[in-house]
Amino acid sequence: MFALAGNSGRSGIGRGLFLTLLVCAGSAQAIQTAPAAWFPDSPNFRHYVWDDQPCPGCKTLAPPPAWIRMAALAGISNIHFRLAPDESGGEAYSVAPDVVVLSPSALKLTPCELAFLVGHELVHIARRHFDEDAIAVSVYSGKRANWTRHGSDAMQLVDGDFGLAMRVSHLWQDQEFEADWLGALLAAQACGCSIESGAMAYFRRDIDAGGGIAAEHSSSAERLRALMPFAESAKRLATRSSN
Ligand SMILES: [Zn+2]
Repeated sequence: MFALAGNSGRSGIGRGLFLTLLVCAGSAQAIQTAPAAWFPDSPNFRHYVWDDQPCPGCKTLAPPPAWIRMAALAGISNIHFRLAPDESGGEAYSVAPDVVVLSPSALKLTPCELAFLVGHELVHIARRHFDEDAIAVSVYSGKRANWTRHGSDAMQLVDGDFGLAMRVSHLWQDQEFEADWLGALLAAQACGCSIESGAMAYFRRDIDAGGGIAAEHSSSAERLRALMPFAESAKRLATRSSN
């Protein structure tokens, strides 16, 4: 649901991973543990139990220090990265409550595009969009938010219910915009990435390729426009980057 689906083909990880480690790695000593003052506080709505298999066939992915820095800036203390075996789930997605999955082609993005992509998924986790979804679909279905402890039970309500999906779609769109701008700012502070080199370059690539993400959410062009007001903030945060 939170996939930023791309449309690159399958490929290996060698060059992209090397560039990432080279350009946007920082040092272990530079890892910041306190959340950024500008990052919104963790939401106080209820936690559901999420016990889905995070990613069958995935391998553990050792995160560069920059990704850990982004997680820390977002107030996330427990995070796991996985490498998908192929592109079937899109370039990146998050699995509740604490897993970010990247595809082989995601690791071939430029360092700042990849930092934005990872930052975007980290925002979904930090802002607990999956719990927010479970509450929303419960309430829209006429149930109490606490009718089940299990998030997957709640999300099953939306399976095959197009009307319900339509009613919550505005929430999903808001979550995507939030993940975009906060993710772009995480990439700025952790990696020194501008909006132009991170988010905008990522969306432009998508627009040029005919759109993958556009199918499920707002168009890349619309998301690009929504990011423009944050360009100056990103520039200022990028000066705090240790790279
Ligand atoms: Zn997303």
